[in-house]
Amino acid sequence: MAHKPGEMLHLRGNALEKGEPVALPLTQSSMYHLPGLPDGHATYGRVDNPTWVHLEHVLSHLEDAPCLSFPSGMAAISAALFATVQAGSRLLIPSDGYYVTRLLSDRFLSRLGVVVEERPTTGFADGGFEGFDVVFVESPSNPGLDMIDLADVAKQVRAAGGITIADNTTLTPLGQRPLDLGIDVVVSSDTKAMGGHSDMLMGHVASRDAQIMERVEEWRRVSGSIPGPHEAWLLHRGLETLDVRFDRMCASAQVLAERLAAHPAVKHIRYPGLPNDPSHALAQAQTTRFGFLLSLTLESEDKAEAFINTCPLLRPATSFGGVHSSAERRARWGDSVDPAFIRLSVGCEPVEELWQAIEASLNAL
Ligand code: PLP
Repeated sequence: MAHKPGEMLHLRGNALEKGEPVALPLTQSSMYHLPGLPDGHATYGRVDNPTWVHLEHVLSHLEDAPCLSFPSGMAAISAALFATVQAGSRLLIPSDGYYVTRLLSDRFLSRLGVVVEERPTTGFADGGFEGFDVVFVESPSNPGLDMIDLADVAKQVRAAGGITIADNTTLTPLGQRPLDLGIDVVVSSDTKAMGGHSDMLMGHVASRDAQIMERVEEWRRVSGSIPGPHEAWLLHRGLETLDVRFDRMCASAQVLAERLAAHPAVKHIRYPGLPNDPSHALAQAQTTRFGFLLSLTLESEDKAEAFINTCPLLRPATSFGGVHSSAERRARWGDSVDPAFIRLSVGCEPVEELWQAIEASLNAL
């Protein structure tokens, strides 16, 4: 489906009655006025909320698929996994993706009888997918920015009788469309670029498989893993500027990556938009943008820390995808990367101003 962010901005407006507010009202209520039989009405705050409904309408438009919102990316990932695995299931996950997905699988799912196996993102399809019930992928991976051929993996897993789940956090539906490539379920941390202002945590699950979505909805209702209405409202507002933010962030990332690649303080750089990047060919084939994340390896841990902590236009913070550029050394969380490896999230600052700040900080090391 062609992205239609303009249409998205008018989804609510075009359904309004005269006199209704153009901006989305925030419904902050656990109870609904409910005399008599409840059929067809909002019942209780763990089950229904009009702010979620509007948010999910917009998310569904972006994904071109039914969507359910969750209070964080991990809540969305938990919902997708708990809805699809059972005791005895074989689950394959990346060994180098977002580390909390591994923790969830190892610390909780495996104790319930799910057999969890890991593979690196590079060469993920080596060994095939025979016998796996659920295959979870993350592409580009966080933080390594390696990519998986999503259409090929989706096809192979389906042929082997399994289902695929893709974490699309790093590119958003504007940058990559896993469902169109045959992936069964998309999960996303909307805490990142989707919300974009670093002021809340949210996530969503999207799938065109009605049975899976029924299970995901049941999981949300029964486990109580529900978004707060205010967070849902904030995400809805963030989505209204996703197109313009994402466009600037990706364009700036390309400019910065090219200049950083030529800077003597940078030992190694990864950005899928660089022609010699190992992910470039796949990114060209399956993404519409190269993203706003890049990774740099400097000469030493100390230099990396000094760069992150002194650049006035970089927030030294974990997480990514916000309007403010940010950076961190991923080794501090135990990712198996060089101690001087920095994940840099390019924000919405004007690119020349941002480059001047970054260049000055690198030159001063
Ligand atoms: N998936 C990826 C790729 C992430 O980077 C993150 C968080 O950093 C998550 C999922 C989890 O999202 P949240 O922090 O919103 O629970």
